[in-house]
Amino acid sequence: MTEAESPLPQGLAEIMMRLQEDSPLLVALFDEHDRLRHANPAWRSAYFIGPGQEPSWAEIMRDNHAHKHGAAIDTDNIEAWIANISTRRGKQPFRAFEANLCDGRWLWMTETAQAQGWMLCVGSEITSLRQDSRALRMAHTQALAAAQTDNLTGLSNRRHGMQLLQDALNQTEPWPICVAAFDLDHFKQINDSLGHAAGDRVICDFASQMQAGSRREDGCARIGGEEFLLILPAAGLPQAQAIVERLLSRVRQSRPLPEHPDHSYTCSAGLAQAIWGETAEALLRRADKALYRAKAEGRNRIAIAPG
Ligand code: GH3
Ligand code: MG
Ligand code: MG
Repeated sequence: MTEAESPLPQGLAEIMMRLQEDSPLLVALFDEHDRLRHANPAWRSAYFIGPGQEPSWAEIMRDNHAHKHGAAIDTDNIEAWIANISTRRGKQPFRAFEANLCDGRWLWMTETAQAQGWMLCVGSEITSLRQDSRALRMAHTQALAAAQTDNLTGLSNRRHGMQLLQDALNQTEPWPICVAAFDLDHFKQINDSLGHAAGDRVICDFASQMQAGSRREDGCARIGGEEFLLILPAAGLPQAQAIVERLLSRVRQSRPLPEHPDHSYTCSAGLAQAIWGETAEALLRRADKALYRAKAEGRNRIAIAPG
């Protein structure tokens, strides 16, 4: 273990803990399942979380939205809002943004994420700073988010997915990195027999399964009509394969159309592990090649690209 990696000496860790407990900074720690594992009193009071409670981030947002307290959330579809924020939350080692609370406070929020999925959130109040250009900055942030989002599913669009992948490939920390390319099976038949709108709902169902069945640090993107990309940082082939198999099995069990309660669908996947120095495009090409093998071998399965 190098000096930089050695744990904080006991005495310093205690001082650090005591200081953050008393600080007006908002400090919280989320685990790899995005469950709150620590929050100081300032964080708990801002987001209306009682002492000792350990809700997930999504549960906090649902509660705040329902009671119109805590985080200011301007949406009439909270699940779609959560899904969309999830495409950016914890996907990069560091992120900073402005956020506002229902009580009128403005925060400069930072998220520092470990490749293993733990995330430190630290916010500081900036209510009195640069109010003049705040509306402009918010509009800019929203425009940027919209340019990264796929309209139908709320996932990352192709451009954002490829950018997340290239960013991960350029860093040294999250290796090994795997990607999986997905294509829904016999999708034309779904469109032809049940209509394009039903097809769209199946696409949205796959997007939800993908987010629910992957880890917070994984990137989920819709890269074509019924084609998707899953970016798996800090995962070797065995772990990535297990995640993808689990997703395929969730999809098999899903019944996304209430008016056709027996209707199920499947998808095929091609999995590839990144080679150091490989570009995002080259890696996706290898995953795509494996995907076509999964199709040729009978669909509803995963094929792995040779290294
Ligand atoms: P395969 O198992 O070989 O993938 O068969 P497939 O029928 O799914 O074939 P393919 O992937 O080539 O066809 C995809 C079809 O998806 C073609 C297009 O009509 C349909 N599609 C593409 N984008 C959308 C969309 O946004 N909504 C809907 N409803 N359908 C779409
Ligand atoms: Mg296709
Ligand atoms: Mg298809």
